[in-house]
Amino acid sequence: MSVASDAIAGRGDLVGLSRAELAAVMAEFGAAPFRARQLWHWIYHRGAVDFGVMTNLAKPFRERLAERYVLGRPEVSSAQLSQDGTRKWLLRFTGGQEVETVHIPEEDRGTLCVSSQVGCTLTCRFCHTGTQRLVRNLGAAEIVGQVMLARDALGEWPSQQDRQLTNIVLMGMGEPLYNFDNVAAAMKIVMDPEGLAISRRKITLSTAGVVPMIARCGAEIGVNLAISLHAVSNDVRDVLVPLNKKYPIAELLDACRIYPGSSNARRITFEYVMLKGINDSPAEARELVRLLKDIPAKVNLIPFNPWPGAPYECSSDEAIAAFSDIVFAAGYSAPVRTPRGRDILAACGQLKSESVKARRSESQPAAAAAS
Ligand code: SAH
Repeated sequence: MSVASDAIAGRGDLVGLSRAELAAVMAEFGAAPFRARQLWHWIYHRGAVDFGVMTNLAKPFRERLAERYVLGRPEVSSAQLSQDGTRKWLLRFTGGQEVETVHIPEEDRGTLCVSSQVGCTLTCRFCHTGTQRLVRNLGAAEIVGQVMLARDALGEWPSQQDRQLTNIVLMGMGEPLYNFDNVAAAMKIVMDPEGLAISRRKITLSTAGVVPMIARCGAEIGVNLAISLHAVSNDVRDVLVPLNKKYPIAELLDACRIYPGSSNARRITFEYVMLKGINDSPAEARELVRLLKDIPAKVNLIPFNPWPGAPYECSSDEAIAAFSDIVFAAGYSAPVRTPRGRDILAACGQLKSESVKARRSESQPAAAAAS
């Protein structure tokens, strides 16, 4: 069992424990099992950060809890608001590492883009996060903490029907299938109907294609799947998404064909970043259609979001429209993803922790100037 330790006070954090873990901690603490259920409700339905507010628990019990435990939140290093309403938080965890979390409000829903790792090991050529050294995986508490923090900032406790945080995409920093156990533990907490209550149908996990983990993702958490495809030939994909050398396109698509829970009503999203002159020709659009045959698929075309020093340019509006038309005419939905929060570097592929950038610029001024 892991009760993350509060470095300063030596108290354990109860946020991020599964129901079973919380029950075990309470049993050890000498509390009746229903106390664990009451705590769960306070933590994940009401968003309590202080045991003092838990008025259905006896005062001496609350005081004992406060001596031993905390209800932690990630520390907010900075918060930015885009002209389009998108918010980005730079969050700092114990140990000083930072990640970014983004909230994207839309008319009929609000999506939180959650990070799964500090940095990323994948080095996709067009992604800003890939230029950052991986520091570490996030723990379950740190992943859940991003959702809790967003609920705090949006003023959404207790959990209710009419809310601005309705959907979650695991599309922030990191490769979620390289940190599957912690991502799965966190999503089970987030999906619990007596707490944050975000259903698996409102959660989408995006992967660059860690093929051996895809089936487990479907079987164990059953969330929607998105694949960062970005190219239709191995030659091009090997360069854009180096993980392709390990798990080439055919194997990746085979794993999609048997993804548990996918159906015409619950399609797999194929993300395709539009890079001028690299992957955006009509012939490639036709090849994409051919590859997706027999997969319940929808395509999401992502205009390339620039970042300082990026080696690519975004395709022209005409090229994107022509590509979309071909995919659409073959019977697939192929919307172009509207970039959100570009002015605060919150759009797809633009996330990167400032802390690491700052450290780099101190030690390698030349490299920092170029990036
Ligand atoms: N590692 C996972 C989760 C990150 S999702 C994955 O690769 O799917 C982030 C999404 O943004 C991915 O589809 C990624 O390919 C895309 N992306 C990365 N850099 C981008 C950029 N500069 N412009 C647009 N999309 C980008």
